[in-house]
Amino acid sequence: MNQKIKNIIFDWDGVLVDSIDKMCEVNADTTSFKTKNEDYGNIFLGNSISYGEKNTDKKELNSFWKNWSIESQKIFPDKNIYKKLQDFKKKNNLKFFIISSNLEENILMSLKNADLEDIFEEVLGKDTHSLKTEKFKILENKFNTNSKNSIFITDSLGDIKEANEVSYKSIGVTFGVHKKEILEEGNPEKVFDSWDEIFNYLEKIV
Ligand SMILES: [Mg+2]
Repeated sequence: MNQKIKNIIFDWDGVLVDSIDKMCEVNADTTSFKTKNEDYGNIFLGNSISYGEKNTDKKELNSFWKNWSIESQKIFPDKNIYKKLQDFKKKNNLKFFIISSNLEENILMSLKNADLEDIFEEVLGKDTHSLKTEKFKILENKFNTNSKNSIFITDSLGDIKEANEVSYKSIGVTFGVHKKEILEEGNPEKVFDSWDEIFNYLEKIV
């Protein structure tokens, strides 16, 4: 029998906050990403930080992060979902983590503004490491997380690929940057369109 899931590792943007449209807007205003006039989702087909560094000059990238910080910290999580997450966590004795390509400060500020900072044991962002593969390992060294007792929830193919690299199972969600067909290219365990579906599935594996 499969080991029960004891840890849920969440991506932040596009999963726990509805931030993709705003990110796209700030990006279009401040940077010359090659994708400016293409599909914004291209940035997230691989590691988004590497993409930015490769395709944008340093000054513009700094400008993006500066403007994005201001906007990102203003985005409030949906309290309703968080209440459900909190209850689910408590009921099943789970641990919650965030690994993101956003800045830790932005995530922590957004959580603090909504009085939600206590739900997560750890928040690892761009400042800790640019690669999510490394962030999974950092969590392993600090907590008892591993690829068998943990599951990752994300909205992007790039994240699913990074999780695959370190043998973590992923759940893809379609309410962020990528649609189902794209997420499925990474062979996630499941792809869901709503939190109700996510909770139904999690009930079975925790
Ligand atoms: Mg995301």
